[in-house]
Amino acid sequence: MLIKPVLQNSALLADIMNASNGGDRMHVWWLGQSGFLLKCGGEYLLLDPYLSDSVTKKYAKTDKPHVRMTEIVVAPEKLNMVRVVTSSHQHQDHFDEETLNPLSKANNGLQLVLPEATVDAARKRLPDTKIVFHPINDTQTISVEGWEFTGVAAAHPEVERDELGRCSFLGFIIRRNGLTIYHSGDTVWHDGLIPSLLPHQCDLMLLPINGQKAERRVPGNLNGTEAAALAKATQAGLVVPCHYEMFKFNTESPDEFVKVCERLDQRHHLMRCGQRLTVGKK
Ligand SMILES: [Zn+2]
Repeated sequence: MLIKPVLQNSALLADIMNASNGGDRMHVWWLGQSGFLLKCGGEYLLLDPYLSDSVTKKYAKTDKPHVRMTEIVVAPEKLNMVRVVTSSHQHQDHFDEETLNPLSKANNGLQLVLPEATVDAARKRLPDTKIVFHPINDTQTISVEGWEFTGVAAAHPEVERDELGRCSFLGFIIRRNGLTIYHSGDTVWHDGLIPSLLPHQCDLMLLPINGQKAERRVPGNLNGTEAAALAKATQAGLVVPCHYEMFKFNTESPDEFVKVCERLDQRHHLMRCGQRLTVGKK
């Protein structure tokens, strides 16, 4: 049995539309895996959306089947209010043609924030796209439609740089109306994380908790203990776990994350797919 999102399709869209436009608060919906929709001051930002079955199809006949655990929360073309989207890296669950193409068709002039090192690969994967690309590197800050992004190096499982020193894997610190969110993308713990994040005093961190396990034969991520410890060490106002309950072979219970957050006295919140969280200043 697939997990049913708390709000799905038209019910989710109604919740998105009805969420207040007050600028001092931000609404956040978990769309599954590392996908989130943010709404602030009536403007939208979509993070790493994976709203298709492309990964499951891609690996169906391999020795690494990616069996979906949670139903698709909404069809990408229904998110026709979105003007800006991010992709933290080129892996299919963070850069999905079957999500980005229909999203772009529904949103004229859609803008994509992505690591500069991945732009050529992205263009090859979206040959006919009208999407406007906004490349970014670690430590660099750019503004797109009033959303401010600062790139943070991610290690998946190493911090990988091309010959120009540009990271293939990034996370983003995102700012709007005085609120600061960190969306890490896929990363394991590395020495650059605390110095990059601590000065920003994030109101909310969205962190993977599926960990690294050799038998899965994938690069892996922070585990629950590390995600909780990272939030605590960088004085996050609130931390939400993600990157679980999407594929059966690569999921994790959030229990360890919750236990360590409680032990560290770190404010945390578990979301379910299709659910809304509203954050203000900490
Ligand atoms: Zn991933």
